[in-house]
Amino acid sequence: MSDLRDLYQEVILDHSKGPHNRRPMAEASRTAQGFNPLCGDKVTLYVKLDGDRIADVSFEGSGCAISTASASLLTESVKGKSLAEADALFQGFHDLVTGKVSHDEAGDNLGKLKVFSGVSEFPMRVKCATLVWHTLHSALNESQQTVTTE
Ligand code: ZN
Repeated sequence: MSDLRDLYQEVILDHSKGPHNRRPMAEASRTAQGFNPLCGDKVTLYVKLDGDRIADVSFEGSGCAISTASASLLTESVKGKSLAEADALFQGFHDLVTGKVSHDEAGDNLGKLKVFSGVSEFPMRVKCATLVWHTLHSALNESQQTVTTE
């Protein structure tokens, strides 16, 4: 597991240094903001919908390595997914980072998101990892919402 853990930390570091899909989106169908006052993480999420499918997703914001990497990996994970699939990913991710399910029990649909399994050992970091997911949930359910983890 320690080799795997090193690999996971490397992936998180890579995504925090060079996040994917960090750009504004003028033609977004939905936008939401998230804020984690405990750490100071801020994120704005842009979603472009095509029917019930997420055609494109991007983010802007500043925060710690975990929150930035989580936003980057979220955009990669939910792009092209249906709203129901995105919701299932959110549930699975939440269960993983809160320790409800272990790394090995987590569904294969999580894919790369499993790099965050170690976060469950650091309760303060759970909000950093889940902030962007709560923000996505808000963007998909209500437009122009602000989420705070408090
Ligand atoms: Zn943070």
